[in-house]
Amino acid sequence: MTNDEKALCKRLGYTFHDKKILHRALTHRSVSGPNNERLEFLGDSILNFIIAEAVCDYFPALHEGELSRLRANLVKGVTLAKLAREFKLGECLILGVGELKSGGFQRESILADSFEAIIAAIYIDGGLEICRELVLRWFEKRITDPKAIEKLKDPKTALQEYLQARKMALPEYTILKVAGEAHAQIFHVECIVPGTDIVTKSSDTTRRKAEQGAAKEFLKLLESSMAEQNG
Ligand code: MN
Repeated sequence: MTNDEKALCKRLGYTFHDKKILHRALTHRSVSGPNNERLEFLGDSILNFIIAEAVCDYFPALHEGELSRLRANLVKGVTLAKLAREFKLGECLILGVGELKSGGFQRESILADSFEAIIAAIYIDGGLEICRELVLRWFEKRITDPKAIEKLKDPKTALQEYLQARKMALPEYTILKVAGEAHAQIFHVECIVPGTDIVTKSSDTTRRKAEQGAAKEFLKLLESSMAEQNG
């Protein structure tokens, strides 16, 4: 193992029994011979599985759609590249001449893919339990970030929770009109909340989408009128 690789293991919190597999995980396909593409494929799945299980455990009240969006945010390339940078993975990548010249060790997709390959390498080398423990350690802050959860809620749910928290009446949605041909209808919807004088309108191709649009606008206006009242 090179000194860079040793330092990387220290940062990751894992010591490989099989040094070759770490080397493989760090080898980009621009190098001739065995590379990390197959490990990346496997690592992608393992990461998705571990994060899916974690968000299910952490958030028993979230629906499937919310869990799915939450997981997607956690395992997307930008997030993985950020983690890879925190671990200084770029310093250890083994790249072909072309990629080396064009700064491939800093490229987001290469960093993210190699990070997935590292996850698979740890799984193969140390087993699922250790792999899961490490992944959860690395992702914990991001998984439990309350701001990330807040962003997941659809506008109707967010509005309802906002109102409930303030003991206000619940929103009422009314279809004002449905325009257009049967196969291309546009729903015009209005949102009011008894006790407030805010009215918002929105139109969209489904009733649900139109209601979400009206709720989103309503929440925006409500939050700014509350901010005015308070300050
Ligand atoms: Mn990938």
